[in-house]
Amino acid sequence: MQLRFYNTLTRKKEEFVPIKHGQVGIYTCGPTVYKYAHIGNMRSYVFMDELRRVLEYNGYKVKSVMNITDVGHLVSDADDGEDKMEKSAHETGKTPLEIAAFYTEQFMKDIDALNIERPTVCPRATDNIAEMIEIVRSLLDKGYAYETEDGIYFSVEKFPHYGRLSGINLAEQRHGARVEVNDFKRHPVDFALWKKAQPNHLQQWDSPWGRGFPGWHIECTAMSKKYLGETFDIHTGGVDHIPIHHENEIAQAECWLGHKAVNYWMHNEFMLIDGGKMSKSLNNAYTLADVVKRGYSPVELRYFYLNVHYRQKINFTWDAIAAAKTAYGKLCAQLWAHKNGDVATSPDVLKEFRDRFEAAINDDLNVPLALGVLWSLVKLPKSKDVYDLALSFDKVFALDLNKVSQPAQSQTDVPEDVRLLAERRLAARKEKNWSESDRLRAEISQLGFAVRDTADGYELSKK
Ligand code: AMP
Ligand code: ZN
Repeated sequence: MQLRFYNTLTRKKEEFVPIKHGQVGIYTCGPTVYKYAHIGNMRSYVFMDELRRVLEYNGYKVKSVMNITDVGHLVSDADDGEDKMEKSAHETGKTPLEIAAFYTEQFMKDIDALNIERPTVCPRATDNIAEMIEIVRSLLDKGYAYETEDGIYFSVEKFPHYGRLSGINLAEQRHGARVEVNDFKRHPVDFALWKKAQPNHLQQWDSPWGRGFPGWHIECTAMSKKYLGETFDIHTGGVDHIPIHHENEIAQAECWLGHKAVNYWMHNEFMLIDGGKMSKSLNNAYTLADVVKRGYSPVELRYFYLNVHYRQKINFTWDAIAAAKTAYGKLCAQLWAHKNGDVATSPDVLKEFRDRFEAAINDDLNVPLALGVLWSLVKLPKSKDVYDLALSFDKVFALDLNKVSQPAQSQTDVPEDVRLLAERRLAARKEKNWSESDRLRAEISQLGFAVRDTADGYELSKK
């Protein structure tokens, strides 16, 4: 069956044709390991995982590479501000190496918990400095880069296709207010390939231009070329990377190699929280641990992610995750009923469901539609054939459907409206709105449930 993906570069869905028959190389921009990843970040990696699973379902052997950014990512993606690792080191008194090791481990635990298959290789930027220096040297030799007092910059005007991915116009950018003008740059959009380090800078290496450290963008070109070759199939990342990071990757890689480096560019949309941006100041950049503390399992969060197509924004609210939990519980309960079902489902019916499922996932990863197929499937008369087919779909969903057990009373017996009221009550308590909290307790009680406050949230039980 034909597999089609939306390519950000061409702005259309295209048939997927791999470079090597039966094999696919994917590069994903990995986390900057200076703090805990939040659930928005994790959406990017669930998307990476769904992509890989859909390719594997289609019989491809996938090599996936996800870098670990442990140097060079400045506070602003466009070369401004302090290095994020360096900033975290100053704030905590730890070394960048210690910080990177700690948050990399936490990140790996989160991806395991979310059933995200670990990428084939997860190289660290700091292990690939020599490769980066080599590319910078070559770009200088070829005249695409220039040296300034504070580093080596890529000259975007030397690359005629600059802006093709995001549709920006360089001439407008020169005068636009959006980009800060750095005195050293010839064009405001020029970006650092290498930065010269002050003696007190913690992360620095020898280079032909003195002691320094790499710019952020160059690491992805160095590591993708090293592990996937000069041209590879798919590059992924969040939409925020389109206008700067990926535009820069394309420019430096194509100028260095003399040809295209990536065939398909795929980007996931952002996660919003309560309809707005996540931010430190709003204290809403929730981590997986925050979600688990409130009583939701990682797989319920995964179910929540899968309900929205990766190119649509997804809005996280506590009500919405509560609804996802209830829906997931119902799905598992319905599936459980098929496990020992004795009705034989006709092969034609099974095939029809399989075809609908495959058509959905192969149409630019329409996982929400594929979940809809699963929901209709479990509504069929109770049959072990249905159970087996659902488990084969779960190779793509990774929702632990093989672990479904006798539904736990507490999970499935709490109706969605009661859980939503309990979530609202929890929110009211956080705001110290006690009268609203009491009112909601009474409403929950009228529906036949008692709510008990716990250290992390609440527990509901039948009265
Ligand atoms: P970072 O660790 O900042 O480099 O980000 C890791 C990944 O998370 C990148 O692919 C970003 O595009 C992505 N990302 C950051 N914020 C969000 C968000 N709110 N929703 C979805 N993806 C995000
Ligand atoms: Zn990258």
